[in-house]
Amino acid sequence: MTDKASQHHRPLGWTHAASGMIDAIGGTPLIRLRRASEETGCDIYGKAEFMNPGGSVKDRAALAIIQDAFAKGLLKPGGTVVEGTAGNTGIGLTLVAQALGCKATIVVPETQSREKLDFLRMIGADLRLVPAKPYRDPGNYVHFSRRLAEETGAFWANQFDNTANREGHRTTTAVEIWEQTQGKVDAFTCACGTGGTLAGIALGLRDQAQIAGKTAPRIVLADPEGSGLYGWVKENDLSIAGGSITEGIGQSRVTANLDGCAPDDAERIPDAEALEHVFALTADEGISLGGSSGINIASAVRTARKLGPGHTIVTILCDGGSRYQSKLFNPEFLRAKNLPVPHWLA
Ligand code: PMP
Repeated sequence: MTDKASQHHRPLGWTHAASGMIDAIGGTPLIRLRRASEETGCDIYGKAEFMNPGGSVKDRAALAIIQDAFAKGLLKPGGTVVEGTAGNTGIGLTLVAQALGCKATIVVPETQSREKLDFLRMIGADLRLVPAKPYRDPGNYVHFSRRLAEETGAFWANQFDNTANREGHRTTTAVEIWEQTQGKVDAFTCACGTGGTLAGIALGLRDQAQIAGKTAPRIVLADPEGSGLYGWVKENDLSIAGGSITEGIGQSRVTANLDGCAPDDAERIPDAEALEHVFALTADEGISLGGSSGINIASAVRTARKLGPGHTIVTILCDGGSRYQSKLFNPEFLRAKNLPVPHWLA
C-alpha cells in the first residue's frame, strides 16, 4: 500500500464489526461472472459495488469527497453539501452527510428513474428536480447545483471536477481489486459518468503494479451510445452519435477526474447488448443489476475476446436492478424502445 493509500479510509470488510455506516462503505466482494468467463476462456470478475450501504459505486465517491471537504475545513457538522447528480451520488452524499451530522441538497435531472428519486425523498434529501439540459446550457443540473451552493454558502461537491472522487477509488477500490486478484489483473474496464471510478482505479492499479514490479493492466473505457468519450479515446474527437437508456454514464467532455488518465482502448456498447447481459445474469447467476453494469460486462467480454483465453478482466457492478424497475424491467418501456424483454416478464 502506498503512503497516500494508508492515510485514507480502509474498509473493515466482513471479518470485523463496522463502527458505523461510514466503515461499511467499500470492502465489496469480487464476483466471478460464470457465463462471461466460460464463453471467453478468461476469468471475468465484477466488483459488487451495488452492495455498498447506499446501493451503488457512488458511495465511495461521496465518502471521499466529504472526507476531503472535512479535512480542508470546507464542510463541518451542521453544514450542507449540494450536488448535481444522476441520483446515485445524491443517495451516497445524503447518507454520508447524515452519518456525519450534515445535510444534503440534491439536484437531479427529471429524466432519471422514479426509483432513484423516490429513494432520495425517502431518505430525507432536499431534492430539486430540474429539466434535462446539455452541459453547455446554464440550466444544466451541474451548473444549477453550483449556483445553488454559491447562493446559500453551502459546500459544492463538484463530483465531475473534484479529484477527491478519483482519489477515493485509487486508494480503496483499486487496492481491493489488486488484493482480491492477488495482483493478477490483465485488464480493467468500466463506463464513465464523472470518470472517477475509471481513472481512480486505473491510477490505483498502476500504483500497485509499479510497487509489485509488474506491467500495469490494460484500461478500457466502456461507453454507451450517445457519449463522446469513445471518440475521444479512439480519434481524439468528442463528437456524439446515438443515445442510450442507461443512467449515470456517458460524458461529453474530459472532466478533471479523467484528465491525464486516457484509457488504452474503448468499446462502444449498444443498449440491447448491455441488457442481454443484465437479463442473463439475473436468470442464470442470481445477480440483479442496472444498465451501466450491463455496459461494463459487455465491454469486459469484448476485451476478453480481444486478449484471448487465460486472461483476468475486472469490471464494476455499479448498482442493482431494483433502482430501474420502472424502466429496464418494464416490458412496455422496453418494447417502446425496441429493446429485448426478458422471457419471464414477456
Ligand atoms: N453507473 C451508475 C449507475 C452511476 O450512477 C454512475 C455515476 N453517475 C456511474 C456508473 C459512473 O461512475 P463515475 O461517475 O465514477 O464515472
